[in-house]
Amino acid sequence: MRVYKFGGASIADAGRMAAILPIISEEHEPLLLVLSALGKTTNALEVIVNLATKGQKEDALAAAKVLEEQHLEYARVLLNEAYYVEASIALRNHFAELEQAVNDAHPAFYDYSYDQIVCMGELLSSTMFSFFLLQNNVPNEWLDIRTVIRTDATYRDAVVDWDNTAKKAGETIMPKLHQGKIVVVQGFIGSTDDGKSVTLGREGSDYTAAILAAMLNMDSVTIWKDVNGLQNADPKLFPNTVKIDAISYNEVIEMAFYGAQIIHPKTIKPLQNSNIPLYVKCFFDKELPGSVIKGGVDQAHYPPLIVLKDNQLLVQVTTRDFSFITEDNLSTLYSIFHDLKTKINLIQNAAISFIACIDNREDKVKALIHALGKHYKVAINDHVQLLTVRHYTPEVIFELTKDKQILLRQETRKTIQVVMK
Ligand code: ASP
Ligand code: MG
Repeated sequence: MRVYKFGGASIADAGRMAAILPIISEEHEPLLLVLSALGKTTNALEVIVNLATKGQKEDALAAAKVLEEQHLEYARVLLNEAYYVEASIALRNHFAELEQAVNDAHPAFYDYSYDQIVCMGELLSSTMFSFFLLQNNVPNEWLDIRTVIRTDATYRDAVVDWDNTAKKAGETIMPKLHQGKIVVVQGFIGSTDDGKSVTLGREGSDYTAAILAAMLNMDSVTIWKDVNGLQNADPKLFPNTVKIDAISYNEVIEMAFYGAQIIHPKTIKPLQNSNIPLYVKCFFDKELPGSVIKGGVDQAHYPPLIVLKDNQLLVQVTTRDFSFITEDNLSTLYSIFHDLKTKINLIQNAAISFIACIDNREDKVKALIHALGKHYKVAINDHVQLLTVRHYTPEVIFELTKDKQILLRQETRKTIQVVMK
């Protein structure tokens, strides 16, 4: 039994959704299908959140209407008359839930409001997909995964309640798979015990696939992407990337930590714990070999693995009384970053200064600088890049940094990190 996850790009338009049909219909084993929202729907929903929480409810509802029209149009292209009628009823029910969430949205509960609105994307896409499979004689059951994945109430980054989720998955999904059925669910979303929708963090559908695979003890997970497997760097940023055939769980966790946008960072751990391989394959051509992430891969064969993070901010903090940056100051500094939920991508500290490289996020940075400014002098370098190379060679580092101004460089035997402009 396998889990297949389809991301937004693989179902961006009705033609694409139709093109992935053989990947499913030619499979002989029971499948659990995890879907993301169509294309850039989640971004569109985020715009609606921002309007709704700023009190611009009319604009938010208008934007929701546009999204509704787009989904109905998608369904019209995808489905025949009979299935369109059924699907449009289901879609309209979801849009009624969205409208309710827009009306209830409030800036005092931004993250909560966000999840009630943004969770709709996956419900919509998976609904259409389920009807499309039925129309093509692929029997399947659509399931609202919010009845299975249980979490705490950390909205936008919900923490899974594993025991509860395992129990629910075993009760609701397992029997269907044992009957040889295909089950269609949503990635990215879940619910609290009292029925409030949550999301698992942007790009969280990969994580959903891993959670369910681990809870149901599936044989493998396959993430279907628009590229043939994993590359040693982002092909959008670098020419001549190299495909990685096999890579270990640990290496992918390292890469994700440094900001590689290959797979949602939380995806690997549940799979590693249960030793479930994760395949990354290309939905344009299912015969291409792709990549596999699994245990026991020999790292001697890795090419240099490159991660470049743009739009970074280098924050330099200096003590006002010239006290050293030792345990007490470090503890204050870490608490400030921790309280503001700001991840530090790189740290360096010297006698009276502390440097952190962070994502330049509008919603976090102001508050952070304000909080740091209460205790320390703060200086900033913006628009810097953070380059990380694992399994580096001197040649690669030279190539990647030759036209840059280097602000900071750290290296260990396996990893080099450079903050540059
Ligand atoms: N639709 C969500 C997002 O765009 C989750 C996902 O695609 O994995 O972030
Ligand atoms: Mg996505």
